[in-house]
Amino acid sequence: MINHKINQEGQKASKSTMTAELPAFAPAIAELEAKFSGQLIRPDDADYEQARRLWNGRIDKYPALIARCRTAQDVVLAVDFARDYTLTVAVRGGAHNTNGFASVDSGLVIDLSAMKGVQVDLTNRTALAEPGVKIGEFIQATQQYGLIAPTGICSDTGISGSTLGGGIGWLMGKHGLAIDNVLSFELVTADGRLLKASATENVDLFWGLRGGGGNFGIVTAFEFQLHALGQVLAGMVIHPLAKAKEVLDFYRDFSSTIPDNMAAEVFLATVPEIGPAVIIMGGYFGEDLPEGERLLAPLRQFGPPLVDLIQLIAYPDFVAMLDPIAPVGRNYYESAYSVKQFSDEAFNTLITRAEQMTSPFSATIMHHVHGAATQVAPGATAFALREPHYIIIHSAGWEEGSAEPHVEWVRTTYAAMQPFASPGLYVNFIKGQTEEAVRASYRTNYDRLAALKHKYDPTNFFRLNQNIKPKVKN
Ligand SMILES: Cc1cc2nc3c(=O)[nH]c(=O)nc-3n(C[C@H](O)[C@H](O)[C@H](O)COP(=O)(O)OP(=O)(O)OC[C@H]3O[C@@H](n4cnc5c(N)ncnc54)[C@H](O)[C@@H]3O)c2cc1C
Repeated sequence: MINHKINQEGQKASKSTMTAELPAFAPAIAELEAKFSGQLIRPDDADYEQARRLWNGRIDKYPALIARCRTAQDVVLAVDFARDYTLTVAVRGGAHNTNGFASVDSGLVIDLSAMKGVQVDLTNRTALAEPGVKIGEFIQATQQYGLIAPTGICSDTGISGSTLGGGIGWLMGKHGLAIDNVLSFELVTADGRLLKASATENVDLFWGLRGGGGNFGIVTAFEFQLHALGQVLAGMVIHPLAKAKEVLDFYRDFSSTIPDNMAAEVFLATVPEIGPAVIIMGGYFGEDLPEGERLLAPLRQFGPPLVDLIQLIAYPDFVAMLDPIAPVGRNYYESAYSVKQFSDEAFNTLITRAEQMTSPFSATIMHHVHGAATQVAPGATAFALREPHYIIIHSAGWEEGSAEPHVEWVRTTYAAMQPFASPGLYVNFIKGQTEEAVRASYRTNYDRLAALKHKYDPTNFFRLNQNIKPKVKN
């Protein structure tokens, strides 16, 4: 039986309703197919069931058509088709967005997942990446040359959505956010134009694309500045949850005093064969390995931990350490917020709520935004949250049974922590779509973004995202 879950817009759709609607524009699909180099996937196709699925198994949408593009020209054709037939568009990069923005009931999914090229220019130390590339694939492609661009913390997330929102990750202290390392974007706008945005071309768009999410068009290529990175001293230490207060007190001091070429993040999660645990994951990403050993010694000695997995390791292997915690297809429900400083009361509340997690697949994650990511002026790119802070995510994961206890755990935990939260949250972790949360994230950049949206997407054609409403500048 098909389980009709409620989609973002509160509608329900099904394969049968999609099949019934198809004939209305079937001739046009055949015409599109003649020019399209990728694959058009219809509700009756064998690939449809797999192709409509996202990372979050809880999202259950039925697009009218999935246009799996191979080239930027395919993206232009798909955008033009959606405009001509007034189809709502969802853009799929790595499909990791928890809200399920990468699919849409009865609309057109512009699926970039097959666009996986990465070209590395060793002379200029740059990489040109297509939008279907996942973080793990991207870092493998550049690390074979001892080079890296900062990206997110685990392999399966798409570089597309994560970069467009800002792109926090292990190297943000050393090299800034992913967007701080983008040299240019190639994108298809709502009117079907293929443009380039860089420091010298469409400069306004270049500013907005660095943090403005999928609001301005579909990016078909990202050009990144690369940096040298050899093996890293990195991994994780694991303590029992029963020791969480001491460990978090230690973490508060450790994370706020580490140099920019280090990172430390926390996971309150269940570890197989250990049980509920507090994990500090991170490492040293500099070149002076003895200095790294010295800087990491307090982390490795504190407790001592039950398990110490910090080691000299290839960066892609370090990133892959996290992959088992968030497999594709599991059901997820998340809420997040920012915290500037942790009080004892905030830690005690976090720990009490972690003790009440309803599933071994749930977790509380603490990202530390610091270093180079916080040394860029808030108005220099669309991403405004440039002060040092923590991002706390309560993520429920479950494989079967009712969603209700897990969702309730997230909701009550989020509510209990609000007295300690600070305003504004990184757009890529905002739950659902609320204008208030988007405004709070962009702060004083919002009006400029709204004017840019009016210039490049006046009809709000790209609206399944953390949406910036088009507005004529006063
Ligand atoms: C397990 C997990 C780990 C995460 N870790 C990190 C992290 O370390 N750092 C971080 O910054 N974020 C992280 N995120 C959040 C992540 O940035 C967002 O979920 C982001 O939307 C994922 O991008 P995607 O391409 O995989 O997603 P998708 O679901 O494919 O895309 C989400 C939205 O992004 C936009 N989009 C995607 N590709 C394009 C494109 N080419 N052109 C225009 N718009 C596009 C569209 O609006 C699309 O609907 C994580 C999320 C999860 C679930």
